Amino acid sequence: MVVRLHQDTAVPRARERALHGIPLPAAFLYLSTMPLPQRRTTVTAHVGGVPVGSGHPVVVQSMTNTDTADAGATAAQVIALAGAGSELVRVTVNDDGAAAAVPEIAQRLADAGVSVPVIGDFHYNGHLLLANHPACARALAKYRINPGNVGGKRRDENFRAIIRIALENDKPVRIGVNWGSLDQDLLTSLMDENARRAEPVDARDVYVEAMLQSALRSAALAEETGLGHDRIILSAKVSGVQDLVTVYRQLAARCDYPLHLGLTEAGLGTKGVVASTAGLSILLAEGIGDTIRVSLTPRPGGDRTEEVRVAQQILQSLGLRSFAPQVTACPGCGRTTSTFFQTMAEEIQDYLREQMPVWRARHPGVEEMRVAVMGCVVNGPGESKHADIGISLPGTAEEPRAPVYVDGRLHVTLKGDAIVPEFLAILDSYVARRYG
Ligand code: SF4
Repeated sequence: MVVRLHQDTAVPRARERALHGIPLPAAFLYLSTMPLPQRRTTVTAHVGGVPVGSGHPVVVQSMTNTDTADAGATAAQVIALAGAGSELVRVTVNDDGAAAAVPEIAQRLADAGVSVPVIGDFHYNGHLLLANHPACARALAKYRINPGNVGGKRRDENFRAIIRIALENDKPVRIGVNWGSLDQDLLTSLMDENARRAEPVDARDVYVEAMLQSALRSAALAEETGLGHDRIILSAKVSGVQDLVTVYRQLAARCDYPLHLGLTEAGLGTKGVVASTAGLSILLAEGIGDTIRVSLTPRPGGDRTEEVRVAQQILQSLGLRSFAPQVTACPGCGRTTSTFFQTMAEEIQDYLREQMPVWRARHPGVEEMRVAVMGCVVNGPGESKHADIGISLPGTAEEPRAPVYVDGRLHVTLKGDAIVPEFLAILDSYVARRYG
């Protein structure tokens, strides 16, 4: 099992502690020896300067839900998504108005100092829009093509037309197959072939094979047209977790293109978050996936950037990347009947979130810090020792004392009404000392 050091946070952290004579907590020793998943080996596709492939960290991407023709609203949302940490942002390009707006969106991003690559999502008419709007073709960093809807009888011709434009503009493409818009000719032919077998396989297996063949045949056609092998990313999205795992395991075994992972139409609220996390985590833990998108359906007026935070949290929870300090907070129970504990945990989380833009610039590595905020003596001191910095609050009927642990050692015991500001001051000085 090969451990990729650029993804590994545990090993350098252990080394840094050893250099400073800081003892390693028991859990840290255990974690540092746990192997990270070996990424499936792929070529690297560069998307507007962002490398996507197994030699690089898994990339977080997102998609706008504004009318792309409204350049102001779309640019604002791209800026918000990039600000939340999205490293690639996709916009739908569905008609002439949208295609005409893309160069203005790119200009607005440049004016705002935002350099996130913007990807165009094309369905049905991509060959026409890209041909009729050359400035749009130039401004986009990548074209997403759905081989299931590039045209009926003229499918291959239209597909080649997009590939030729990608070649002229030196752009990569994503060939994105989707369960809901699968190439019907291919599916019918595979279903007929299956029906003629002495022992036909399950229709679901035929569906999976149709998705795989649609993606792989289209990639072969793109290469025949002249596109480089390292200019292609594949995806094969479905809306069920088990189906997603089945499709991607097979796709991963049959090619070395970088893979874009995502559960399509993941859904609203908790269901969308949990289903996406379940599907993506299984695959990422097997080393499959080079860029991810979490397709959440926001509530009306909801925050589109939530999908970025969920994608980041999936990667950070799996130990693949670090984006922000992690707070270990116990859920509270009958031992913390007052709201003091919840209020303090929230205040610390908010403080970390507010400080991160500044800390990220001033204190490299702070995103790997682990903070524990615990509710009582049952697990408080133990969990605090495992964190970089932790506090154990007094539970109901306990003495009003809050021991603070730094690097696994008892640092101070706080008392009185100013526990929160005093703990935040200790946190500030820890960050400055530990992360330079
Ligand atoms: S640490 Fe204490 S307060 Fe928190 S869940 Fe455990 S027993 Fe309850």
